[in-house]
Amino acid sequence: MYLVPSPPLDAEQERAVDVFRRADRFLLAGHVRPDGDCIGAQAALARVLLALGKEVTIVNPDPAEEQFDYLTRECSYRVFDGGALPAHDVACLLDISELERCGNLAEPLRSARSTKVVIDHHVFQGERWWDAAFLDVGASATGLLVYRVARALGVALDPVAAQGVFTSLVTDTGWFRYSNTDAETLAVASELVAGGVDPSRLFKAIFQRNDPRQPRAIAELLGRLEYSVDGRLAVVDWPLCNGTESALHDGDLVLDILRSVGPVEVVVFLRETEDGACKLSARSKGNYDVQALASEFGGGGHVRASGATIKGPLAEVRARVVAAAVARFDGATNGLVKPDRRRGRR
Ligand code: 5GP
Ligand code: MN
Repeated sequence: MYLVPSPPLDAEQERAVDVFRRADRFLLAGHVRPDGDCIGAQAALARVLLALGKEVTIVNPDPAEEQFDYLTRECSYRVFDGGALPAHDVACLLDISELERCGNLAEPLRSARSTKVVIDHHVFQGERWWDAAFLDVGASATGLLVYRVARALGVALDPVAAQGVFTSLVTDTGWFRYSNTDAETLAVASELVAGGVDPSRLFKAIFQRNDPRQPRAIAELLGRLEYSVDGRLAVVDWPLCNGTESALHDGDLVLDILRSVGPVEVVVFLRETEDGACKLSARSKGNYDVQALASEFGGGGHVRASGATIKGPLAEVRARVVAAAVARFDGATNGLVKPDRRRGRR
């Protein structure tokens, strides 16, 4: 059934698989503004657990983007309304290890007496709070970890689960372009396509249905571009006074354009939000560690792709973030980490 060798499971991962094997009622939860990896991994795990006869509910703090409707039509995704959590024995967080990034789900999940499981590939620095975990910071996507879980459980992926894993892989690797694209990722993708997943149909669904106003909004955003550190740092920002067009920016589209510039090593994108804060997205294409940069501001992510939500007006936040970003260019080791294949993200 499986053509692709997956890495052997460690003891902690075995325990997590055991929880999936034994328990009956599952709540699958994700992070605020769930992305393609989160939504795809949830769809895939939901279908795998349903195939084993389990009860499954997917609950997120925010709705999925419309572009993933081919998944959300097939599985029932609920947005948490602040009431009681659905009855469950196991709460599984996907694509997130920090309970705090689960928005309004964080407190109810913390106080629920369920077994807590985490499936994730983000760098995690806090105290381990879960009962079981399937973690690998070297995995390109959380969906790839769900693939490994399915395999350990001996469950074949149905067409929806296969689309879910494929969605995770392509959204987190920038359609197999970022540095997290490895042999396992391509082999699993190949297996999924051999099994019936149609890449061009999914490409169209995810990346070719943007709002007609988006190109002009991106042009305006790019007009605000500033370089520093001899062109190695690119900074763009989007103030609230420019209107709600920020919703029109597919962040990755803009970040990819800026990362494509030869001398640019680091891109910082700041969006002012309605609640008096700014959303930071940072990307690196070299050895510069944007996870460390984001964690200075209470955020995190991966070495080459990270984010944070920072309180304060845009001008002030921008000055702080740019100063911190510039400082990390200085000195031989200050922010310039050695290349590390295992942790080298995106
Ligand atoms: P994006 O810039 O696309 O929002 O996020 C890039 C990466 O950073 C993703 O892996 C995402 O999970 C992570 N990330 C984004 N915002 C935050 C944040 O506020 N806190 C943490 N810990 N990670 C974040
Ligand atoms: Mn992810």
